[in-house]
Amino acid sequence: MSAPLTINVLELTRRAGTLKDIAVSLPVADFAFGDDRIVATRDIDVELHIESVQGGLVVQGEVACSTNMLCRRCLREISANIEVAVDEIYQRVPDNPDAYVLEGEQLDLLPMVRETMLLGLPDAPLCKPDCPGLCPQCGADMQSDPCQCQAQRTDERWSVLDQLRGQLGD
Ligand SMILES: [Zn+2]
Ligand SMILES: [Zn+2]
Repeated sequence: MSAPLTINVLELTRRAGTLKDIAVSLPVADFAFGDDRIVATRDIDVELHIESVQGGLVVQGEVACSTNMLCRRCLREISANIEVAVDEIYQRVPDNPDAYVLEGEQLDLLPMVRETMLLGLPDAPLCKPDCPGLCPQCGADMQSDPCQCQAQRTDERWSVLDQLRGQLGD
């Protein structure tokens, strides 16, 4: 198969309710993501369920890739498999602002899959939800190498409060 994400629209839209499933793994290079968060040596898994409806197609499913990103807070490398839901419609005469235009006899779903995957990548990945990050003062990785800066800052805050309390108390 040279273009596994290209479907025959005429065949599918002849009758509303016609179904087609696609399940393929494709090389990352096919998508030309231009995004180094996506691991280039692992295939992109695409699972699509296509249903023809009046005036168009509904495409649902999932697309998955392997990613290598840096934690936004501590800069640790994170390797994760990211799965993104696909839920799109194609319409001959779009009346839905989110619909893709359906034209011609053949439809290449690749651009939509590409866009969905890119939009699904986290902009601010974290190595874990409560990653404490790097110390803003000394740069220590607070997850593995807790420093004393935080404790000092807390002490300073308390001493300010103590002063205030002292002033108010008089
Ligand atoms: Zn982190
Ligand atoms: Zn510190």
